[in-house]
Amino acid sequence: MAKIISGKELSAKLKADMAAQVAEFPEKYGRVPHLVVILVGDNPASVSYVTGKAKASETVGIKNTTIRKPETISEEELLSLIRELNEDDSVDGILVQLPLPKHISESKVIETISKAKDVDGFHPLNVAALWQKEDCVLPCTPKGIIKMLKAAGVGIKGKRAVVIGRSNIVGLPVAKLLLDENATVTIAHSRTENLAELTRQAEILVVAIGRPKFVTADMVSEGTVVIDVGVNRDAETGKLCGDVDYAEVEPKASVITPVPGGVGPMTICCLMENTIECFLAKH
Ligand code: NAP
Repeated sequence: MAKIISGKELSAKLKADMAAQVAEFPEKYGRVPHLVVILVGDNPASVSYVTGKAKASETVGIKNTTIRKPETISEEELLSLIRELNEDDSVDGILVQLPLPKHISESKVIETISKAKDVDGFHPLNVAALWQKEDCVLPCTPKGIIKMLKAAGVGIKGKRAVVIGRSNIVGLPVAKLLLDENATVTIAHSRTENLAELTRQAEILVVAIGRPKFVTADMVSEGTVVIDVGVNRDAETGKLCGDVDYAEVEPKASVITPVPGGVGPMTICCLMENTIECFLAKH
């Protein structure tokens, strides 16, 4: 039986601590942190993520403004909205929910958000700072994963970690954070040969690929710590599932994260933390 890291429980505890911290801000700083979330279009997954962020903000006591724009908004309109928010002193964090419609360049949008208000940690200057080990806003999902490992008492130093996935938002930054914790890190991807042979060597396995139940029991060794980042729909049941076949892998793992209720809630929790950090950096 693996130890299950409940991101739901851990994030609830961390949000309660943040709520106590934020409750003191009006007296100390005259106001609470303010997060602005921009949602373009009505993609159901994006709507649900944005709703989750608004709910978490309420729990923590952060002011949340969600600005909804139609799918047809032009790139220039969106960029000028972001520039306005950059200039607005009452706004501490800006998040544009991805993905964006095809006619809008995601990289232009990310680069336009002021580095100081980039609560997602996606701005090139924040990314560069991460890789140069300078102070920066850390991307929420990788940050949440490290918190989960530490909360579960998993020693990272000296361990063989394998990350499957090399995206800018999860795979690459989580690999860097594991490296900073002194793990020996291997990054695997869709062109990796003999993937199962590699993953069987992992003491810590982080899976962020977006393929339902891709990691099966034969791909992990007894006692592996398994972090499942994937959020997918199971084609058979229609329910949410991860990139790891939980039923098969859990009995072999020493520690595992469930989907839902694992990495997802921690991502939102770290967004709250990043908003507070951006607010405090200003004050
Ligand atoms: P992404 O940008 O699509 O990247 C997927 C990565 O997986 C790529 O590097 C790809 O390799 C690799 N990959 C795809 N198929 C593979 C295979 N068969 N074998 C090995 N590697 C393979 O995805 P992402 O944004 O990182 O997200 C990954 C998953 O995490 C998705 O399910 C997403 O919904 C979820 N997610 C969850 C959270 C959360 O908070 N829980 C946050 C972000 C993302 P190549 O580079 O070679 O193409």
